[in-house]
Amino acid sequence: MSETLFHKILRREIPADIVFEDEHLFAFRDIAPQAPIHVLFVPKQDFATLNDVPEDAAVVIGRLASAAARYAKEQGFAEDGYRIVMNCNGDAGQTVFQIHLHLLAGAPLGRFGTQG
Ligand code: 5GP
Repeated sequence: MSETLFHKILRREIPADIVFEDEHLFAFRDIAPQAPIHVLFVPKQDFATLNDVPEDAAVVIGRLASAAARYAKEQGFAEDGYRIVMNCNGDAGQTVFQIHLHLLAGAPLGRFGTQG
């Protein structure tokens, strides 16, 4: 997998508001938030898309979801609710080809799906 801007964020070469980091993953605020709270959770193990994650690496995805839920609880919006999303390839609008989970929260969210 080739270098992405998320690698540069992890190495602090591009500034970002990093809200969490451990040995497995890191999380930072999205530069173009689509909700009042919009945080990206990125594993330190590299995969370009969800299609590239083998079944025996499924824990990598599970850790992202767990970290997002933990963050929601710590920040006090877990009970109000939130959405997690992972875009895969063109039809979903994936723009950074290093898997990441979007956490969206902070207001009632619109439904999702196709847009006319
Ligand atoms: P995707 O479209 O691949 O699912 O999500 C990529 C996300 O990365 C987008 O929501 C976009 O706003 C965010 N993003 C792109 N460049 C930067 C950046 O330089 N800094 C931060 N914090 N987020 C970025």
